[in-house]
Amino acid sequence: MAKENEIEGTLAAREIKLPDSVKILLDLQAEFNIQDTNVNTILTSLKIDDEESKKKRNYLYRRIKERLDVCQRCSLYLAENHTQKVPGEGALNSPLVLIGEGPGLEEDKMGHPFVGKAGQLLTTILNKLEIQRERVYITNIIKCRPPNNRTPLKKEILACSQNLQLELSIIQPKVIIALGAVPLNYFKPDSSIVRTRGQWINSREYWIMPTFHPAYILRQQGQTLNKIKWAVWQDFNKAINKAKEMCPEYKFYV
Ligand code: SF4
Repeated sequence: MAKENEIEGTLAAREIKLPDSVKILLDLQAEFNIQDTNVNTILTSLKIDDEESKKKRNYLYRRIKERLDVCQRCSLYLAENHTQKVPGEGALNSPLVLIGEGPGLEEDKMGHPFVGKAGQLLTTILNKLEIQRERVYITNIIKCRPPNNRTPLKKEILACSQNLQLELSIIQPKVIIALGAVPLNYFKPDSSIVRTRGQWINSREYWIMPTFHPAYILRQQGQTLNKIKWAVWQDFNKAINKAKEMCPEYKFYV
């Protein structure tokens, strides 16, 4: 923390605020005695699947979580049915990130994302596509459960975007699967998930594939259920193929 404090002190005098991602990378540099000062080189070195990089990724994950633990950027942490914040989970070096809406009852209780029925379905889809859940990163747009699972408000999404941006700036994924309307609208405002799913959104940094949220699949029946399942299957395939094409060396199953 010494380096962070020292630089922050100098910048505070000039009223400049360091982004969280820079702060924790400075700490990583100090903690692991990294001589390289190029942020991109440091982030690229974190992608390597070896023990040293794993230690660094674990350190960064702890730092991301620490920042989340003290987050009070919106009032959701005070909501009546809120138990705990639910951080993202998985491989910080994965080229593929999945983003849902927010924690539900089970996630709030357990403190892990996508662990309820919808989460189990998500794991099944990934496994059928030979993707180990632990080898991708799974997170949500907001990290606290809204009262009665209501849709998060725009101001809450905006407030929590700093937490999501911190995760994304460290992971630097190539491909994102946006699960449902809330993450879709985060990346492409005023979009309909029904009309937009299955179509690539190419933001400057990522390829984004919008698809239906697993909870939506669970609410369908009969013919509609088959149609929705097929659509999601196709969308996941497109996203995974793109991630594999862009990072052929990454092992999605170990
Ligand atoms: S929802 Fe996000 S911004 Fe709001 S308190 Fe929870 S972690 Fe912070």
